[in-house]
Order: sequence, then C-alpha cells, then structure tokens
Amino acid sequence: MEQLFQRLDDLYHEMVDIRRHLHQNPELSFKEVKTPKFIAEYHRKLNHDVRMGVGGRGVVAKLYGAKPGPTIALRADFDALPIQEQNDVPYKSKIEGVMHACGHDGHTAELLVLAKVLNSLKDELAGTIVFIHQHAEEMQPGGAIAMIEDGCLEGVDVIFGAHLLAPLSYGTIGYHSGPFMSATDRFSITLQGKGGHGGLPHHTKDTVVSASQLVLNLQQIVSRRVAPLEAAVLSIGNFVAHNAFNVIADTAQIDGTVRTFSEDVQLLIKSEMERIIKGTCMAADIDADFKYFHGYPTVVNHETETCFLSDIAKDVIGVRHVLEIPPEMRGEDFAYYLQCVKGTFFYVGAGNGDEATSYPHHHPKFNIEEKAMLIAAKTFGKAVFAYSERYNQSTRLV
Ligand code: MN
Repeated sequence: MEQLFQRLDDLYHEMVDIRRHLHQNPELSFKEVKTPKFIAEYHRKLNHDVRMGVGGRGVVAKLYGAKPGPTIALRADFDALPIQEQNDVPYKSKIEGVMHACGHDGHTAELLVLAKVLNSLKDELAGTIVFIHQHAEEMQPGGAIAMIEDGCLEGVDVIFGAHLLAPLSYGTIGYHSGPFMSATDRFSITLQGKGGHGGLPHHTKDTVVSASQLVLNLQQIVSRRVAPLEAAVLSIGNFVAHNAFNVIADTAQIDGTVRTFSEDVQLLIKSEMERIIKGTCMAADIDADFKYFHGYPTVVNHETETCFLSDIAKDVIGVRHVLEIPPEMRGEDFAYYLQCVKGTFFYVGAGNGDEATSYPHHHPKFNIEEKAMLIAAKTFGKAVFAYSERYNQSTRLV
C-alpha cells in the first residue's frame, strides 16, 4: 500500500495537469468528442483493453491483474455544463459558454492517474479493474443507462464511484448506507386560457391567476399529503406568462422538479399533482397540459460495500475525517449501476474554505481543491487491493 500511495503522490502533478487540460477544454453532455479520445489514448498507452463509444460516447478500459480475483469497476464521469466560466485562473475554460462546473474534470484526472499507478503494480494485483469513463451525467437520460445496456458492467462484481464535493471540506470523506441521493423527476404544466384586455378580466380566462393558485396548491402535496417522516421536495423553478402590463395572459407555463427517495412517495406526488392541476384549472375553466418525466432513480448504496469503503477511507485519511452524512436531494445516474451490481457512491471533500472553493456546484465560479483528487485516488486504489484480498479470502473459505 505504501507503494500505491507513494506512486500516486509522485504523479500528483500529472493529475493536476490532466485536470487543468480537461478544464480548459470542456465538452457538453452527449457532445463529448475530444475528451473520450483523450481518455482512450491514455489507457491505450498503458496497454489496457480499451473500448470507445460504449453506450454512445463512454469509454471502458480494463486492466488485468497478474493474479486471479474479482472484477472491480471504478467510475468517473467526464461531461461539462453550459455555463460561462467566471474564474480568473490560468486554466480557465477556453470554450465559450461551457465549463467544468461540477468537478468531472477532477474525477477523470484522478481515475486516469490511478489507472497508471495500478498498471505499474499489476504484478501484485488480483483480479480485473474496469475503468468506466462515463459521458453525459449532467443531462438526462444520462450516459450510465446506455453504457450498462452496452455491457460496461458485464462480469463486474462491485462498483465504486465518488464525487468531489466543494461544500464538504478538503481532507474529509462522506458516506451513507442506503438511499443517499434522491430520484430527480421533472414536470411541465402548460395552462391555456383566454387572453385579453387587462381592464376587462370578465371577458378572459386568466392563466396567471390560475398558475399562481397552482404554485401554492402544489406546495400542499409535500406538507399535507406526504407522510411527515418521508422526504420529498416539489420545487417550481420556472414560471412564464410573458405579456404587456395591461394584457391578460393567454397561456402560462410552469416547470419544476420533484425529488423523492421512495417510489411510493414518488407515485403519490405524481397522482396528487394530476388531481390538483385538474381541480384548480377546472374551477377557472382553463385547460392544462401536464407532463411528468421520470429522471434518475434514487442512489441506493449497498450496506456491506459502504461499510467496507468507509473503513478504507478511515485508513486513508483517519477515522475523524470520515463522516457519515445525511442523504441529499441531489441526483446522480450512478443510481443505475447500483441497481445492477453491489457498490457504493461517496463524497470526497474538495472545499478548502477559501473564496475560490466556496461557490456551489454548477456556479460560474465553482472550483475544487485539487489535492482532493489525490485522496479520491488513494481511496479507490486502496479499495481495489483490499476488496480483492477480502474476496479471494472468502472464496477460499467456501
Ligand atoms: Mn456532478
């Protein structure tokens, strides 16, 4: 293990270089071209078994250890966001309106350098390591589901994934067993009334009044219909009824998101929404078109693997720095991998309290403490060795 850590330390500069190169050249979800090429090229130089175009734009690389053992998948996503970077750093995005504002550049860099180090230790490695470089995490339906359908999990015994997280301090790791990140659904409601003169409302069917009522009525679902100890969020992020000040709007548009952890609650919210929209609009004789889109499912971490990973993390950074953290209403398409194989998804603290890393994910000034990549790589690397050792011991016992 000393060798693993030493070699990762020695190659930290390369991790930073890769991260900054990717940061300067971000690519949007489902439009990634150079990034997967760069990743595949890196693995090819290491003589890994490389497959490009997996599920569209994903890259899967395999490293075979010298000894028999389990097949362990490590996943890193590599897409960026439609955001104009506002950071004033030498490695600022060179692509107008596109930015790595979620840290996926760091995910890719840490996994690539780890691949190089594991390769250098392959004589001691038992089993197969599958590096899953996933495109399009930021845009539903996401890249994970297509990569799985294209066989990226074939033969895989366990999967680990991590997110560099700026709200979490550098030097810490956060884990949670069971439902960890919420299902992320989207809805869209279009109201059709009858526009007209602002001074003659009795000749119109005012969609702004009904849409306003809807915003309030929909808020009663979580507070009055969902059981108090269940977690749910219904947020409306878009409300549009463009018009002149003295014109009553013909149409109004409301869009929002529903976040839940259980399927029962998810279905309850959807059916309550249908009823409330119907009732509210019927009262005002307004037509409503309601569309509900299921997004990523809940990320449910497996207990044994989460416990295993948190023990590894404690070895890497010390017991006091490994925190059991509560579930969150963020979404991740890592959920799909965990529906197929055992594993866990965890957070690696990447905030250092400086102004530079105090902006939230998806903010034009988002940045990470780069040293967090090293912690992530060490945790993944140690997990690989410990998991194969444990796996081989247990199969010998059988
Ligand atoms: Mn992300």
